[in-house]
Amino acid sequence: MEKKEFLSSLVEQALEMVLVFDGKGALTYANTEAREKLGYEEAENIHISDIFPMIFTKTEEGFSTEYAFERKTENMAAYRKNQTCFPVEARIVQSGDGQYVCMANDILEKEFLGKEVAQVRYEAEQAMKVKSEFVANVTHELRTPVNGILGNVRELLERESDSGKLKNLHLMERCCENMGMIINNILDFSKLEAGKFTLDPQRFHFKNMLDYVKDSHIRRITEKGLDFVVSMSDDIPEYLIGDELRIVQILNNLINNAMKFTSIGRISVEVVKTAQVNDKIELYFFVMDTGIGIDKKDEDKLFQSFSQVDASISRQYGGTGLGLNICKELVELMGGTIGVESEKGKGSNFSFSIWVTVPEGEEVPAASGLAQRVPSDFNRQRPIQEAGEDDIRQYGSEANKDKLKRTLSKLILCVEMENWEKAEMFADTVKQLTGEAPREVKSMALRLKMAVQKENYEKTSAAYHALDALIEEEKSEPGEGQE
Ligand code: ADP
Repeated sequence: MEKKEFLSSLVEQALEMVLVFDGKGALTYANTEAREKLGYEEAENIHISDIFPMIFTKTEEGFSTEYAFERKTENMAAYRKNQTCFPVEARIVQSGDGQYVCMANDILEKEFLGKEVAQVRYEAEQAMKVKSEFVANVTHELRTPVNGILGNVRELLERESDSGKLKNLHLMERCCENMGMIINNILDFSKLEAGKFTLDPQRFHFKNMLDYVKDSHIRRITEKGLDFVVSMSDDIPEYLIGDELRIVQILNNLINNAMKFTSIGRISVEVVKTAQVNDKIELYFFVMDTGIGIDKKDEDKLFQSFSQVDASISRQYGGTGLGLNICKELVELMGGTIGVESEKGKGSNFSFSIWVTVPEGEEVPAASGLAQRVPSDFNRQRPIQEAGEDDIRQYGSEANKDKLKRTLSKLILCVEMENWEKAEMFADTVKQLTGEAPREVKSMALRLKMAVQKENYEKTSAAYHALDALIEEEKSEPGEGQE
């Protein structure tokens, strides 16, 4: 008895409409939801055809219908007492005692929302298409004048001998190159976003491509005092079919980032073959650095467009936040994935995989030990930072003092040559090398950096000498103590 009461109160308060009618079609029960939705105060003198006139017809015997009374939900129109109607999702079943039970849900809102969502989605897609086309057109138009300026500047550079003017022209050349790079990034991004980007796979010499990448970065990396190592496993075929230009673009992007965010240590690039299926092979690329690293919590957002880890980083290092997003899209177009493993303050390991084709007749060298390893093992096996670099970072260690001295002398040389940009790069390294130093040394390193940023020769020189003396003092102290 109690159970029956409990069940009937459950039905009475159910969120869906529940109607019961007899073999004649007369309504014998309607729960609260049904009464409220249909506008009836009581379930009396109501025929089921009053509510579902499209499904039931009133007859002498009771009702006629083509409805199959299966346990299947159907959409139908429910009529209110006032003859207006609304869509419902309903199921009508025959119960054992010759009665029928109808359970129905009002789907007016759902239908309306569904239509609205479809409309909003359509409008957003249209807007996105217009925006992408606009961005593609504008960037294309921008490229022409920038290239025009660049060409003229280069011509002037060939004829100019005045050192002051040469300096300005070189600056203009750099600005144009940077602007060209940003424009190309935006163009790629808008094409990728609009789904208009297509790869151009061609036969290319893999090692020559890597050599080209190495040659284009080695000077700037070693000038910064960093080591640069590029290696590949020996089981990669000589020639491959793939979009060489885009592979170079991804590598350039990751190496440029590595260079931007590393002041001490090493940048290495490594390529290994990890799988082969018929004439397709999977290549894994690693770009590793010993730079500032990335916080775990920021790793996921790196590959989103316009995303930079934080505002202070973008202020200090510049950039548009598009590079990694473009890399991700390109890698995915090549059937691969991209990821990063990093430790704040120690360095980052970016890795990506792509699938390329082995040309017909091309020999695939035998697999070496390296190629058989699982990609993720590579990341784990690679120490983000090796022992030597720990030593360099540890203020007061021989390696640290040595590196500091060398960096400071490079810095002052750049200042003498008025190459403030490069001097700032060395000032950054000095700041990192003195990260664990006593307060006095640290604040002098900061003062040095600020003076360089302001391109103030006197203040830079003063800070340089003061810092040099402080380091010397520290250097002689332990010696004096021992003697
Ligand atoms: P940007 O053009 O701003 O460098 P990216 O998409 O290439 O854009 O990089 C996004 C952000 O990811 C950078 O601003 C930086 O915060 C972080 N980042 C990328 N590469 C490195 C790296 N090697 N070391 C540390 N941080 C990195």
